[in-house]
Amino acid sequence: MSDGGGQRAAGRRAKADFRFDDARLCFGLAGTLADRGRSERFERLARPADLGRWCVESGCTGVAPACTETDLVRARELREAIQRVGEALAAGVPPGSEDVTVINRAAAESPSAPELSADATSVRWNGDGVEAVLSMVARDLIALCDSEYRGRVRICGNPDCGVPFVDTSRAGARRWCSMKTCGALAKKRAYRARLRADATGE
Ligand SMILES: [Zn+2]
Repeated sequence: MSDGGGQRAAGRRAKADFRFDDARLCFGLAGTLADRGRSERFERLARPADLGRWCVESGCTGVAPACTETDLVRARELREAIQRVGEALAAGVPPGSEDVTVINRAAAESPSAPELSADATSVRWNGDGVEAVLSMVARDLIALCDSEYRGRVRICGNPDCGVPFVDTSRAGARRWCSMKTCGALAKKRAYRARLRADATGE
């Protein structure tokens, strides 16, 4: 039901599953709205519990925080602000001031604090509230804007996807948000097109 009739990515993931492959934290949140290039978008943060699950699966906290409808609205607002700022970075134009305000407001909340275990082999995150997680996400975007990678933000070459990513490749020629999803799909499409061309003797 959640597959929405779309194609399953490699590894038999459901469409409602969150995507974190190769994604920077802030753009991982942007990816919770799928099919941005289509008339009908696919919402992965459909209910407050989905947001709680995202907080854990993103690695920002060990325990899913209790999330309300208001938290969900705020998370989606931050997500869309991050998406638009990502698009602005990719286009090399200044971002909208309202979007910057939304990001700064989220970042102003206290983030989770890392606590190293006594043997220094593991980290536990203290401060498991959803505000703390959204603060970490907003701070991640701010850190990106203040880094050498701000000029390496691109929009995924899959027009259905439209999610920003950071091209950290040496050549700076990465085209897809992830090779596991959009890159794999493009490869498959190119392969099928070649088969068709061979069959018709072109
Ligand atoms: Zn993509």
